[in-house]
Amino acid sequence: MGGSILVVEDELLTQKLIAANLERAGHRVRRALSVPEAELQLREVLPDLVLLDWILPDTTGMAFLRRLRADPRTKEIPIIMLTGRAEEADKVTGLEAGADDYLTKPFSNRELLARIKAVIRRRAPLVSDEVVSLGGLTLDPGLHLVTAGDCKLELLAIEFRMLHFFMTHPDRVHTRAQLLDQVWGDHVYVEERTVDVHIRRLRQMLQPTGHDALIETVRGTGYRFRRSLN
Ligand code: CA
Repeated sequence: MGGSILVVEDELLTQKLIAANLERAGHRVRRALSVPEAELQLREVLPDLVLLDWILPDTTGMAFLRRLRADPRTKEIPIIMLTGRAEEADKVTGLEAGADDYLTKPFSNRELLARIKAVIRRRAPLVSDEVVSLGGLTLDPGLHLVTAGDCKLELLAIEFRMLHFFMTHPDRVHTRAQLLDQVWGDHVYVEERTVDVHIRRLRQMLQPTGHDALIETVRGTGYRFRRSLN
């Protein structure tokens, strides 16, 4: 199913076991034994999801969670807290502080993967492998395939991501800055008019079947993807 995950866990064996299981399920994994290590990792690259242990040696997972949510760069990262039985009562505090979900140790690998999948589907649909159908188009992220009826449409990587984002976020107006964030990602510095270039290409790629009409230009603001051609 893919997606990069940062595992913040100070018990080395648990950390390794979780990492091995995630890798076997197709995730790219980074690991941190402490909050400072996690901060270093995050400075380098933002993962698609963080698994955060509640009890860590220097800073508690809870304090770190609050810090991540307060920082504009990290506030949107999906986070699943890992807690022991003893901290189960605190889980409400964790959810209130912005955790997306929590898992109580010991948990099965199957449960872990199911929770991760659910959180990624909800919070980061661009990472999800789930097939999306909307407006007469079907987009399959796993196969990197877009079809309109029997017709296969050829899309390049950026246009594919852009269409994926549009199809998972229809009807809303997206500014160029939002599209840059969502489609190009973190740590990328591209001019806003680059968005227009790729919108133009995406429209060309959708034109053979008339689906370019799904993308509306909203004057002075950005773009909107319509649910249907009518
Ligand atoms: Ca721990």
